[in-house]
Amino acid sequence: MKRCLYCQEAIYLRVTWNNVVQLNSPSSLCELCEEKLEWIEGKRCVVCSRESPANCCYDCKRWSEFYNGKDPLIRNYSLFTYNDFMKELITTWKYRGDYVLGTIFQDVFKQQYKKNYSFIMKQAIVLPIPLSEERLLERCFNQAAMLGQFISNDVQIGLSRTLSEKQAKKSRFERITMKNPFKQTERLNKPVVLVDDIYTTGRTLRHAAQLLTENGCPEVYSLTLCRA
Ligand SMILES: [Zn+2]
Ligand SMILES: [Zn+2]
Repeated sequence: MKRCLYCQEAIYLRVTWNNVVQLNSPSSLCELCEEKLEWIEGKRCVVCSRESPANCCYDCKRWSEFYNGKDPLIRNYSLFTYNDFMKELITTWKYRGDYVLGTIFQDVFKQQYKKNYSFIMKQAIVLPIPLSEERLLERCFNQAAMLGQFISNDVQIGLSRTLSEKQAKKSRFERITMKNPFKQTERLNKPVVLVDDIYTTGRTLRHAAQLLTENGCPEVYSLTLCRA
């Protein structure tokens, strides 16, 4: 019997129009858990994916000013809202080392990549945000790299950290003004799609995007699982 990867409840195949017609395999989350995932729907900021009535939200306008009108991150696309359920789920996956739990996102992450970045997929380099060696040893896997592998068989490294995540975890103001925690290890002169689990302030992704752009990368986009 198939069980929910999160709560371990038994999953019974739901007879829906979809699986009658397409014989879809049942989801690896039970119905109750799946309902708690909150898709970002409706109008969103075209730059950062936050639900917003305005085309470009206040924060993204500020980012644009910060970079003198040239935000190095052209667009971020996020799938889900970072609600309480998602927080618990990501904690179990990323901090408690439940690697397999991450596979629940495999299909949707791939679908949304194809849907939103089809214009660039053929030439783009998929680049997950790296973890410091310290964190990687602690957690045994990089959740961003796992998401990257869902959408590409040729995930690139290209960046490494000079500052650990601990040093980078600060107040909002300190985060905005902090020094770039990355260094580039490889020159990338194709468009890049950065991958990470959560877009919070956008600081980390923009640090990576800024560095890549300064080193000749023509365009930087990002795909993240959640928008906090
Ligand atoms: Zn469940
Ligand atoms: Zn925005």
